[in-house]
Amino acid sequence: MPALLRNFALHMQGDLTLSILGGGQLGRMLLQEAINFNISCRVLDPDAHAPCKELSSEFVCGSLSDFDTVYQFGKQLDALTIEIEAVNVDALEQLEKEGVKVYPTPAAIRIIKNKILQKQFYADQEIPTAAFHITQHSSDLLNHIQFLPAVHKLGEGGYDGKGVQVLNSEADIELGFNAPSVLEQKVKISKEIALIVAMNAKGETVIYPPAEMIFDPVYNLLDYQISPAKLEEQQLWKAQAIARKVITGLKSPGLFAVELFIDREGDVWVNETAPRVHNSGHHTIEANYSSQYDMLWRILLNLPLGNPNEILPSAIVNLIGAEGYSGSVVYEGLDEVLKMENVFVHLYGKTTTKPGRKMGHVTIISKDYLDLTHKANKIKHTLKVIA
Ligand code: ADP
Repeated sequence: MPALLRNFALHMQGDLTLSILGGGQLGRMLLQEAINFNISCRVLDPDAHAPCKELSSEFVCGSLSDFDTVYQFGKQLDALTIEIEAVNVDALEQLEKEGVKVYPTPAAIRIIKNKILQKQFYADQEIPTAAFHITQHSSDLLNHIQFLPAVHKLGEGGYDGKGVQVLNSEADIELGFNAPSVLEQKVKISKEIALIVAMNAKGETVIYPPAEMIFDPVYNLLDYQISPAKLEEQQLWKAQAIARKVITGLKSPGLFAVELFIDREGDVWVNETAPRVHNSGHHTIEANYSSQYDMLWRILLNLPLGNPNEILPSAIVNLIGAEGYSGSVVYEGLDEVLKMENVFVHLYGKTTTKPGRKMGHVTIISKDYLDLTHKANKIKHTLKVIA
């Protein structure tokens, strides 16, 4: 039997054991798709109530950053992927040496999980990114007063805008981080977009249409998104070329989200890359032929890449825990949203809410962009995540 078919037959019999490090909502959506491939999938997460807990074939509650925990968890596996980059990379390297397929590669995760290494990688590869300095202590910022306005970013440990501080002038320097960080020139952003790129073990790539992101100014969380983003042709080409260059430079199979800025002059800059399925790709479940989750399993199983193109344009509204409410979650206005046409509600199975917590998302599909924005706004005002 040809290798590909043998491989497919093998896993359709459920003989391959795969796993996800991290049991949050991204892992949960990967598990939902895993069922279609007949994959038995284990999950490791430190939260005993993680969204993946009830859905995985085996759930292990344990640290993602501890060498022994990750190594012992991974030892019996055929293949492993991540839904969060804050994992013990040394353990993944050891597993890779012992023959476990780890996608994305530990080497790629190591570069991406540290913003200093990530920025140096872009510079080494001559990938357009905002000019930057590296700081070890907050006092180093005094050497870069002329460089302001800038954005200070913690090397490790930041997420969802935490660990990112805008420094407009000398007076803001006290807000900077007293730990290894990147000080990056502030870009005059006209659009923030994300492109998802998938690469298989043969080095073949496919690229999803761009998504345009709009952020909540209070929580800095993705608030609202449209895909495909409306870009000038040249901007789209630049963005695609940059996104591809990032992934081919990382030399790692897997699925990656490349976040880019388009500045007011129309230039395109890479902001950062995620080496995993990403918030900016939630809509691909309903709106694209092959979702980002389907695509990643295809890569891990050595199957042909899927079709990333959109079936219809789409919007995503994130369901974020409302300010002032903590405790058992209540989705106010859910019935009204479920009555709307071509609207798909995803709840992440988190039983408690708190301000700013990602609790779910809603995807809208339509060939009409006005319909998308109209419905997105209506959903934002109708559906509230309270306690
Ligand atoms: P995180 O990894 O926490 O998502 P990001 O590096 O993506 O952090 O930064 C969060 C947000 O801060 C971005 O989406 C963007 O709006 C803003 N930002 C980040 N870097 C810059 C920059 N160099 N210039 C202007 N705004 C920036």
